[in-house]
Amino acid sequence: MPRILIIGANFAGIAAARAIPASLDVTVVDRSGSFEWRPNIHELVSRHRAGASLRVDRGRMVRKAGHRFVRAEVRDLDPARGVAVTDKGRELRFDACIVATGGVWDDRGVKGAARHAMPFKSIADCAAIGKKLAELARAARCDTGAAQRDGGQKATALRRAPSRALGKPRASFNVVIVGGGIEGVECLGEVLRCYRHHAGLRVHVIDAAPRLMAGSSRLVDAAVRAHCASLPVEFHLSTRVTAVRPGGVGLVGKGRAHALLHADVVIWNGGARPSPLLVDSGLADDQRQWAAVTTALQSKRCANVFVAGDAAGLPRPIAKQAYFALQTGAHAGLSVARFVAGLAPLAFHPASKPMLVAFGDLDTFLVAETMVLAGTALALLKEGMLQATLAELDPPTDTDAAFALGLRLLSGLRAAALPELFSIERLLRLPGIRLLR
Ligand SMILES: Cc1cc2nc3c(=O)[nH]c(=O)nc-3n(C[C@H](O)[C@H](O)[C@H](O)COP(=O)(O)OP(=O)(O)OC[C@H]3O[C@@H](n4cnc5c(N)ncnc54)[C@H](O)[C@@H]3O)c2cc1C
Repeated sequence: MPRILIIGANFAGIAAARAIPASLDVTVVDRSGSFEWRPNIHELVSRHRAGASLRVDRGRMVRKAGHRFVRAEVRDLDPARGVAVTDKGRELRFDACIVATGGVWDDRGVKGAARHAMPFKSIADCAAIGKKLAELARAARCDTGAAQRDGGQKATALRRAPSRALGKPRASFNVVIVGGGIEGVECLGEVLRCYRHHAGLRVHVIDAAPRLMAGSSRLVDAAVRAHCASLPVEFHLSTRVTAVRPGGVGLVGKGRAHALLHADVVIWNGGARPSPLLVDSGLADDQRQWAAVTTALQSKRCANVFVAGDAAGLPRPIAKQAYFALQTGAHAGLSVARFVAGLAPLAFHPASKPMLVAFGDLDTFLVAETMVLAGTALALLKEGMLQATLAELDPPTDTDAAFALGLRLLSGLRAAALPELFSIERLLRLPGIRLLR
């Protein structure tokens, strides 16, 4: 029987595994044991949600699809020989392979970023940011308290006095968010959800683009800025970070000389770049290229390799989003099953979906192709997507009761919540929902 190997088991890899019949010989390999639901990880920044609720056991998911799971990192991939070698030296042989390795954290070559900035990419990263913010907020509160006990005059002087380094007032904490894309906006929302009433909070958002979420509707940018008008948030747009060092970041921007900004914490949302495995295995030409594929997701370099999710560089690029990763994963699964059966793979046609962007407890945006809706009630839809998709990817089959419960939850969410997502008229009937213009 032909052997199929899937490298990477998050959105794309799991969707691929589920699309391949259990009768085929499939091995799924991932370096970590837990599936991670990324679209809600910003909520760990405010500790509004615990990381465990966004993790699912990968081995269980793969076994439910009827396949074998190997927990290991693939270090070497040789498509011509049909072999992948893991960090433990194990050889995984295949006739056809799906590469679903996503992307890796990108410091964009900025000096000091890898060392002094906190990445915002995984559950562990966001939990660490949440912990750091809580420590800073606690320390700033103590500082304010101590100053106030010393008498009003001294307290005012302390709060106004610039510190030695980069003009930091005592008893405050400066949070610098690098990147004003969807992740940056969602991260800002969580910082504000938790600390906007803390007298010491100062937030700076930096992006090279002239507006927030530059690739999306400008209505979201305007709405986020309107929410922040009376909050301690400063936007540094058309501005690049030149270096990150302990206690601050260097900036350079349009019409602005090189400046230093004090930072107690730097949260880095610089996006992702391709995994080095792509170029090392010959699937991409250089370190910054995604694996070039045909419209059928088949590698242009190696016919026995299909690429899904963020790792795929389609002829017409699509957004690096979880819902596309699920779609390309499922399609790559079907394509690889056709390939090993000697059939030609079929073209992939992306189905575009509205994007949900959370802004803490202040707002949620639904960005569709031609319009943007806003309102905190939309947060329910984001939750609905999470619960429905996880219930589908990891159906509760352990006992009859859990199974029934899962099915009820799934069908309830599908029937009641998700259709709302695709009907603008019905969404507008929800309380507090507004159409942005
Ligand atoms: C902070 C953040 C917020 C986001 N919010 C949203 C959102 O709201 N909505 C949305 O649709 N999308 C969102 N995204 C994007 C979404 O998470 C990605 O598009 C999606 O995760 C891509 O899925 P993937 O399966 O291609 O790759 P990934 O999810 O990155 O998974 C790749 C998998 O491959 C494994 N792997 C990689 N290399 C190897 C190797 N050599 N050996 C073994 N295993 C390997 C990794 O361990 C990982 O499990 C967000 C992303 C981030 C970072």
